[in-house]
Amino acid sequence: MRISVIGCGYLGAVHAVCMAKLGHDVVGIDIDERKIEALHAGRAVFYEPGLPELLREVLGTGRLKFSSSMSDAKGAQLHFLCVGTPQQEGKYATDMRYVDEAFASLLDSLEPGNVVVGKSTVPVGTAARLADALAERSPDTVLAWNPEFLREGFAVKDTLSPDRFIYGVPDGEPGAWATAALDEVYASALALGTRRLIADYATAELVKVAANSFLATKISFINAMAEVCDVAGADVTVLAEALGMDDRIGRRYLNAGIGFGGGCLPKDIRAFIARADELGAHQALTFLREVDDINVRRRVRVVELTRTLVGGSLLGQRITVLGAAFKPDSDDVRDSPALSIAAQLHLNGAEVTVTDPRATLAAQVRFPELTYEPNLETAMLRADALLLLTEWREYQALTPEFAAGLVRRRNILDGRNVLDLHRWRLAGWNFRAIGRPYDSASTDGRAAPKWVAGKPGK
Ligand code: NAD
Repeated sequence: MRISVIGCGYLGAVHAVCMAKLGHDVVGIDIDERKIEALHAGRAVFYEPGLPELLREVLGTGRLKFSSSMSDAKGAQLHFLCVGTPQQEGKYATDMRYVDEAFASLLDSLEPGNVVVGKSTVPVGTAARLADALAERSPDTVLAWNPEFLREGFAVKDTLSPDRFIYGVPDGEPGAWATAALDEVYASALALGTRRLIADYATAELVKVAANSFLATKISFINAMAEVCDVAGADVTVLAEALGMDDRIGRRYLNAGIGFGGGCLPKDIRAFIARADELGAHQALTFLREVDDINVRRRVRVVELTRTLVGGSLLGQRITVLGAAFKPDSDDVRDSPALSIAAQLHLNGAEVTVTDPRATLAAQVRFPELTYEPNLETAMLRADALLLLTEWREYQALTPEFAAGLVRRRNILDGRNVLDLHRWRLAGWNFRAIGRPYDSASTDGRAAPKWVAGKPGK
């Protein structure tokens, strides 16, 4: 099919490349000319595993083009709206400017029979509003809402073989026509048995924000348990293992740590609270405020733990922060808990050096006041404390013996609960973690307790 993808950020660039991989003729459109130039030249503008290779492959087939002009959407049968929906400055609600502007400029390029497909995460009610505008301006076209569930770090895989498709479509003939068009686009994944659910617009929009709210709640739940573990002397990693053995609960998203961040979860739950309020469901989502508060509290907690770790004052302490991205295998630093903690430590007088395999450049743009060192060994040199805040594989593979040869003092805080606490303590490290017992006699050479059987699942 002939497809346009409007907005070539994390979602749109991956979507455009993957649609071309599936055999469609695709034009990716973005108002950011620098982005378009880079993509056109075969350079992915952000780090996403597998994307650069796939981008070059599909550019070579001639099926993928990029443009900064919306008029190049003309001729496409399907138009995917993938522009950003950030949080409004100083408010919880979504900034709808980009969706509204992109939609308005697309109207001139539409032709009878076209399907406009929203993929951006939007406040419930947006699709109905845009469908009304479409009916007025281009009566022979149809709108569908097809929310996206890709995970950064797995975006290519998730786009080529997602776990589900949700189509929000209108009733009757136009709905059947939009469904048929989407089925054709996603034919290969559907043939392999990917589940597909047809819904009305509002339900389709809600699926996305409800899913993100649930995941955020699960993370904040285990982080709340970590707070209790901290005061009760219990171990949240063992608690999570035990909870995860219950199939009704499941083990995923139960890793206590410094909490969630990124360009989706935090702003999506806040936008959902704001939208429910606007619609009159004032009390329905008050629990999400608590979910957000627990999450933000983790960052404060880590600053306090670091202060304790280095002996009571952060002033002049050389702190090395391992990780800037909001998650591993990404260079996305939007609302990154790691960077937020690094900035707070800096404000408290610490000398902070941030390292990350991919995200130091992006981080530098957001927090130019911090010191960045892409090389891990150099970053750790003469540190008074190491803080593991993004669980990149290379940080998980660090050994206490190797790190001891670089740092000035053997202090470490594991903000993601991924290191072997007993091994580090046995090697003489003052080791702190979130929701795990602090043993002041931790460096006395005791072996791991017997109940730590096998490797914790993730
Ligand atoms: P992003 O900021 O990386 O990309 C948005 C892009 O839209 C930018 O390149 C911007 O220049 C472009 N844009 C803005 N106005 C435009 C216009 N008028 N015409 C053409 N392009 C325009 O954002 P993102 O992370 O890709 O997110 C996009 C949407 O997808 C959001 O609603 C987000 O919530 C949702 N989403 C994102 C992810 C993710 O993992 N990033 C996953 C699922 C859903």
